[in-house]
Amino acid sequence: MAKDEYESLLDKSSDILSKSNISEERLKIPEPNIIREGKVTIVRNFMDMVDMINRDPKHIMKYLMKEFGIGLNLDGKRLIINKKVTLEEFTQKIEQYLNVFVRCYECNSPDTEIKKVGRTNVIECKACGAQHPINMSKELTGNEADLEEGKKYVVQISEIGRSGEGRTTYRGYHIFVPGVKKGESVRIVIKKIKDGTAIGEVIERINKQ
Ligand SMILES: [Zn+2]
Repeated sequence: MAKDEYESLLDKSSDILSKSNISEERLKIPEPNIIREGKVTIVRNFMDMVDMINRDPKHIMKYLMKEFGIGLNLDGKRLIINKKVTLEEFTQKIEQYLNVFVRCYECNSPDTEIKKVGRTNVIECKACGAQHPINMSKELTGNEADLEEGKKYVVQISEIGRSGEGRTTYRGYHIFVPGVKKGESVRIVIKKIKDGTAIGEVIERINKQ
């Protein structure tokens, strides 16, 4: 990738960053309290989590059912999942749900509601007033603390994008890395992060394939 292309990629991303007003606010939903009994997974505090999310439990269950591809039942406050699910898997699905159906797409506030505008379901933010149609392809952005600007990480490039930049997924982020080859492992420093996308600059080549 030519240097000016890299610069323009960075410019573009800083442009996006300056337009956004990322709220640090996070939903303080309780950690899932999960136990496994044989082939069944029980989330003991499911309804406590749902109360904080402020969405119809049926909607959340429908989503989880689809994601896990298995039946779910409510038993009082407990959610019964008819297969083995790890705490990490469950937490990731809940995060995904929050990203798609709860958090404001502009400011990230969880203080939103779902409204119907014409035939479209939109998320309306009570904090900033933004309205966005629900975007099912909105991907998991993960915990932003997991990846930080200015910090170094070792990643392996999984593919090369259209502009010749390397791409990979790491800690739930899509990372663009100019000047690398597919399969190459590199140490990068994160230059920019915006939602689920980050730009990294190579500081060391670990191996070439
Ligand atoms: Zn907002």
